[in-house]
Amino acid sequence: MGRVFNFSAGPAAIPQEVLERAQNEMLDWRGSGMSVMEMSHRGREFVSIAEKAEQDLRELMEIPSGYKVLFLQGGASAQFAMIPMNLLAGKKSADYINTGAWSKKAIKEAGRFCEVGIAASSETGGFARAPAQGELRLNPEAAYVHYTPNETIGGVEFPYVPDTGSVPLVADFSSTILSRPLDVSRFGLIYAGAQKNIGPAGIAVVIVREDLLGRAPEGTPAMFDYKTHADSGSMYNTPPTYPWYVAGLVFDWLKRNGGLSAMAEVNGRKAKKLYEAIDSSGFYSNPVELVSRSWMNVPFTLAKPELDAGFLREAAGEGLVTLKGHRSVGGMRASIYNAMPEEGVDALLAFMKEFERRNG
Ligand SMILES: *Cc1c(COP(=O)(O)O)cnc(C)c1O
Repeated sequence: MGRVFNFSAGPAAIPQEVLERAQNEMLDWRGSGMSVMEMSHRGREFVSIAEKAEQDLRELMEIPSGYKVLFLQGGASAQFAMIPMNLLAGKKSADYINTGAWSKKAIKEAGRFCEVGIAASSETGGFARAPAQGELRLNPEAAYVHYTPNETIGGVEFPYVPDTGSVPLVADFSSTILSRPLDVSRFGLIYAGAQKNIGPAGIAVVIVREDLLGRAPEGTPAMFDYKTHADSGSMYNTPPTYPWYVAGLVFDWLKRNGGLSAMAEVNGRKAKKLYEAIDSSGFYSNPVELVSRSWMNVPFTLAKPELDAGFLREAAGEGLVTLKGHRSVGGMRASIYNAMPEEGVDALLAFMKEFERRNG
């Protein structure tokens, strides 16, 4: 078997062209005589790779001036702590919207640093929807408002960007960054672990409004202060050079494929087909309210859970892999990030139909 269609939630598929380019450049990056892995992070070659990656990301997301782009370690999970460490600025509390497993982790971590106000929670309904703007109980004294635009496990995506007035909006875009255009100017801080829609695990992107830098209290360790990284071009210490390079190849691939509006078109179509197939069958189902359904992570269950193992085994036989749902949800989950070609979704749909025909 050659390459499979990998529906993993993360680390997730990377565009084949990107992998091929990395392969071609593996032993000798453009006449340097060495692999990117072997280069000094302060050398001319790597600095050019890092700068191009940032520039391409700025172009793709139309990041306004007045925002810093940081490439950090510790994944999105380190951001759960770095955000309160850096943004409280003497305030006692921060507001969080609770829409699922990742919100809860962020909330738990923030609780180590401040009072957490729950601006809204969809927990009682089983996290099957994103709260509407009118349901948010926002504290004007909060240091910031945090939310998770796309809950990777529950498959719940906000269909809007919350309006938080003058309180900075902070968002965990780990599983939906780059999937469609976004108005960055609405945010104080955006962060995302790379391994879903950016590149390999090991790096996280933080886009932060400059006025939010330099607010960490005295005594904050240098590595956990955004300002340290902003002032040093994310090279205070040795950054994860290879993931940064591959992320840059992904940004380049996105640009050559029409950027985020082109991605949005394909992603919207992929998700629509999959949800339509689920909704029109009596065999598969998805519990999420229509307007809050994720474009990136599509959980679904079979009418007979005893068929789950057979579904996964037969799908794998067709080259459709990593469809098992998160252990907390069960059933299946198809993660269909930018790197999942539409043919992958078509192949999954054909398989689902055939499986239902035989077992429904
Ligand atoms: C995967 C994920 C995380 C955790 O990312 P790490 O890089 O493993 O720390 C956090 N938030 C969301 C929304 C995710 O999908």
